[in-house]
Amino acid sequence: MTRFDDSCIFCGIIRGAIRGDKVYEDSDIIAFLDARPLFPGHVLVSPKDHIVTLSDLPADQVGRLFEQVQIIARAVESALEAEGTFVAINNRVSQTVPHLHVHVVPRRNGDGLKGFFWPRRNYQDGQAREAVRDAIERSIQRLLAGR
Ligand code: AMP
Ligand code: ZN
Repeated sequence: MTRFDDSCIFCGIIRGAIRGDKVYEDSDIIAFLDARPLFPGHVLVSPKDHIVTLSDLPADQVGRLFEQVQIIARAVESALEAEGTFVAINNRVSQTVPHLHVHVVPRRNGDGLKGFFWPRRNYQDGQAREAVRDAIERSIQRLLAGR
């Protein structure tokens, strides 16, 4: 049974209590048009269960969700005659709706979406880069060992 949160907009769309421009639905996943798109055809793909971030999604549901994201990204490209897509998730920071959703945005060369790519910076030096690489590698090993 789908687990809803009564105060969540996307749960409202999933329950049919709030209008949404649905493009796909099955027993576990829904996809609908973003109400304020970066470009026409900007779609949000969500699990129907009220799950907040990618980290909260049970591992055995990740594959299903991303298989559907792949299909929807192909469909968006084809339907909008786009040259590519941008696929992204905000987790907590910059996340305005606390119900996991994958943005699928149609892209074209020269479409002006530079604002989405924040300023980049170099590592201070090779030692700083190696410290970060090592910390992430060890964190991955801890998470894998704890599974
Ligand atoms: P994020 O900021 O990554 O959490 O993205 C939330 C997205 O949800 C934004 O792009 C909003 O435009 C979109 N959004 C908010 N309310 C609705 C709604 N009722 N229907 C469709 N999209 C919505
Ligand atoms: Zn929800």
